[in-house]
Amino acid sequence: MCGIVGYIGEKNSVPVLIEGLKRLEYRGYDSAGIGIINTTECKVIKTKGKVAELEKLVQSENIKSNLGIGHTRWATHGEPSMKNAHPHMNEDKTMFLIHNGIIENYVSLKKGLLEEGYKFVSETDTEVLAHLIDHYLKIKNNLFQAVRYALNEVEGTYGIAVIYKNEPDKIVVAKKGSPLVIGIGKNENFIASDVNALIAHTSQVVYMEDGEIAEIFKDHFQAKTIADENIIKEIHEVDLSIDELSKGGYPHYMLKEIMEQPDSLFNSMRGRLVLKEGISKLGGLQGFEERIANSDRIIISACGTSWHAALVGEYMLEQYTGIPVEVEYASEFRYRHPIITPNDTVIFISQSGETADTLAALKEAKKKGALCLGICNVVGSSIARESEAGVYIHAGPEIGVASTKAFTSQLLVLSLITLLIARRKSLNQPEGQEIIEELQKLTHKVELILKQNELIEKIAAQYVECRNFLYLGRGYHFPVALEGALKLKEISYIHAEGYPAAEMKHGPIALIDDDMPVVFIATKDSVYEKVVNNIEEVKARKGRILAIVNEDDNEIEKLVDHVIKVPKTINMLQPILSVIPLQLLAYHIAVKKGLNVDQPRNLAKSVTVE
Ligand code: GLU
Repeated sequence: MCGIVGYIGEKNSVPVLIEGLKRLEYRGYDSAGIGIINTTECKVIKTKGKVAELEKLVQSENIKSNLGIGHTRWATHGEPSMKNAHPHMNEDKTMFLIHNGIIENYVSLKKGLLEEGYKFVSETDTEVLAHLIDHYLKIKNNLFQAVRYALNEVEGTYGIAVIYKNEPDKIVVAKKGSPLVIGIGKNENFIASDVNALIAHTSQVVYMEDGEIAEIFKDHFQAKTIADENIIKEIHEVDLSIDELSKGGYPHYMLKEIMEQPDSLFNSMRGRLVLKEGISKLGGLQGFEERIANSDRIIISACGTSWHAALVGEYMLEQYTGIPVEVEYASEFRYRHPIITPNDTVIFISQSGETADTLAALKEAKKKGALCLGICNVVGSSIARESEAGVYIHAGPEIGVASTKAFTSQLLVLSLITLLIARRKSLNQPEGQEIIEELQKLTHKVELILKQNELIEKIAAQYVECRNFLYLGRGYHFPVALEGALKLKEISYIHAEGYPAAEMKHGPIALIDDDMPVVFIATKDSVYEKVVNNIEEVKARKGRILAIVNEDDNEIEKLVDHVIKVPKTINMLQPILSVIPLQLLAYHIAVKKGLNVDQPRNLAKSVTVE
């Protein structure tokens, strides 16, 4: 998920690698490393820290080489640590591998390799691939073939680069699901996970496609399919300046992360759906399914955006599993006298896995004997370590302070947990299959919403001067209303409140006049008609209305000032789609106000204080 760079040529590769890694830092990562091979030595240098730290280590070693690879890791398997950082290597330390992605069948591959006598020094899925390549190197005595054979056994995603002491004239690369490009130079070639790392050296690039593998020499390269057939690759001219490329070409991390949601959602569900049986498969909850399904009660505890995800989770779990669910602010939970018993399951949600209040609530629930589960993005984080079991959302690094892609991935993982438990209760196989089919259509639907970015920007321009906003929704969309309002508050400093739409009559309706925009989330679900009534009530008081509606809805637009249309899905998953226009709306309003959306005042990304 993070960064790969590589160099082969006549120059010293080390500064090229370090500079390339610096250009990939915008993606967020937790550790970094390089591996080089020269005529006298094969060396790996890695650190748990930042690239600047790696640079110091490298300088103190004063190494030089014409062949090297470098990596920034965003941990998916095993905590961020020196031993888990890449490159990984074979036992005699002559072959180095860097990898972005996830080897999904690493457990079964590892079992076979352990039986063969291989020893593992890390907890990563990547090291399994390193040993598997070594296994084939011993048989084939050829790096390219060894990599090819190994990859034929791999399920999952990868962008990889491999170098080997006995074949020091090449880098072998391969791609499936994670990006990889080759940079073409004169008597030198480069590889990287994105063009940012190459652009300082060359504008000629070759984009590797899924299922392709290539040998890169200093003056040429040969690409093949994984089935060993030669292919001719086209060389593209990249027309981008270095300035344009920071943050992956986006002006802010927040926009980049909003736009990444088709990928982040795909990563959250990858390898976790079994359509045939209509079930989800969550390795992190294996062995705990019965206990969760038999809980008297599920409590979900979180803060901020994660708390909104928890509220959606409550609706999902109650609808499909019949288990009573309560949602608690972690900060309140720990300071009152919560009644928790060993028959309860408590789920803690935190993007960073370091949220102090949530961590403290987890420790409290653990003392009381409840089954404690974590839903985190950052692998190896405190909440992930402290909880008995859990699920990573695999959304990739989130850098913008206002959470966007982590929120939608949290909702997605909650739906997978719901499916897992519901199938053990009354949900039958065809019903499970229907949910899975909807999940599989989700990323395409997200793309359709993101295509409306320009329209949303134009709508946002008309609301920049407003000083107050009301967000209203019912059912699954009440938490979405809260989240929409929070996004706007966080980055635009406009006062915004989220309410259940029907509650409007019990107070907030007094605020409504032609100065008070109201954002309705009014997709077609069981409470649609009631929400339309609420829209009429606001309109009668001359409130300005922006409505999020389904694609086939031609009625509401006749009533309101602006509509943004989102595709339809089942009720449980609809919040994943309807929140995206609200993220974009908040983003564009804040940008138009000239504010720093990535680092809003007074806020921190990971709230590690009470
Ligand atoms: N799955 C690998 C690991 O956890 C690679 C992660 C990455 O893409 O950075 O080490």
